[in-house]
Amino acid sequence: MAKEKLIKKAKKYLVAGVDSPVRAFNYVGGDLLVIKKGSGSKVYDHAGKGYIDYVLSWGSLILGHASPKITRDVKKALDSGFSFGTTNIREIELAKAISKAIPVIEKIRFVNSGTEAVMGAIRLARGYTGRDKIIKFRNSYHGHADYLLAKGGSGLATLGIPQSDGVPRDFTKHTIVAPYGDKKSMDKIFTKYDKEIAAVIFEPCGGNYGVTLPDIDFIKYLRVITKKYGALLIADEVITGFRFYFGSLAVKLGVKPDLIILGKIIGGGLPVGAYGGGRRIMNKLAPLGEVYQASTFSGNPVVMQAGLSTLKALRDLRYSYNRPEKLAACLTISLMKEAGRRHIDLKIVRFGSIFSIKFKDKKIFRKFYRGMLRRGIYFAPSEFEANFLSFGHTGKDIDKTIKAAEEVMRDM
Ligand SMILES: *Cc1c(COP(=O)(O)O)cnc(C)c1O
Repeated sequence: MAKEKLIKKAKKYLVAGVDSPVRAFNYVGGDLLVIKKGSGSKVYDHAGKGYIDYVLSWGSLILGHASPKITRDVKKALDSGFSFGTTNIREIELAKAISKAIPVIEKIRFVNSGTEAVMGAIRLARGYTGRDKIIKFRNSYHGHADYLLAKGGSGLATLGIPQSDGVPRDFTKHTIVAPYGDKKSMDKIFTKYDKEIAAVIFEPCGGNYGVTLPDIDFIKYLRVITKKYGALLIADEVITGFRFYFGSLAVKLGVKPDLIILGKIIGGGLPVGAYGGGRRIMNKLAPLGEVYQASTFSGNPVVMQAGLSTLKALRDLRYSYNRPEKLAACLTISLMKEAGRRHIDLKIVRFGSIFSIKFKDKKIFRKFYRGMLRRGIYFAPSEFEANFLSFGHTGKDIDKTIKAAEEVMRDM
């Protein structure tokens, strides 16, 4: 089917042609992408046009698309049935692999998305502490649960809406939105609400409002102040888990959170979320404890296999995490150089293998973006979303991307 026809059909039956707002490409204008297949660092549309993919299912595919080994293992799992709704060996093995890599996670609960994992972790924190209030940081994104759509980042920031319609005021009244990196305001909040605060939730490296570098000193302070007031510290590592190291970024930065939330990478591209922590806290979950959380598809064997095979591959690659990181460094340095040469105001923030791109204004970003996409480079379609490198990317991909950027910037 012709591209235009397909997009028209998508828009007829899906809202704006998509199932998640940023995919509509509103921020960059032009048509949305309908992708037919992916392989390694590339995706292909229905006309057969290939794109070097720096979105990678929003950071999920750290090994690249359709990694042969993962595909083989997942097919094998499929042959044994799609879903049991009981415990299966793959979920036991994935739980063990995660716990080995992140010893803070003595026990884990699998769910189907990052959003669900965040909801579960916060309910657990509230149940464990017997307190209601939570603190999140301005511009951080923790999925689309009602009470976390309080001045959230990601799609919301992109659309410039401070808070979603349809969220009752009462639902966000226990959510305190704090400025990131500001110890004094943390002091104030804790002094004011004291024993009402159940937990602080943070992203060890911000990935949903552009890339926001970790403030290690501040993160360490979060550990100190939560301990002092008996609140839990929750690290949302849906992006950062297994992204920069074989394990948790928070732990690598020197902080042991009480609960860690995982998603994206640990599903190998299939829908997943998980939250875990020390036995004492996790045992408050039903049926051992009184904090209820259930799900039909949790621990799905096919998803668990994709995660397990991904972690196995990453464990073998653990010493080469600097490979995607080096590619990211090389790419971003070249983009900056090219922009500098042409007096284009470009800001790039990079942490390890992820980076975000920002121009002086949205119009310039748009121009750059459309030019790159036309040349087969698929960056995140918003200045607020992160771009990702994977083990599927090669030096050749980077060279091609730089060459395209040179051409695009020449015309700017
Ligand atoms: C993607 C993301 C989520 C939500 O995960 P979904 O699987 O999209 O529900 C939560 N927190 C962070 C930091 C994320 O990047």
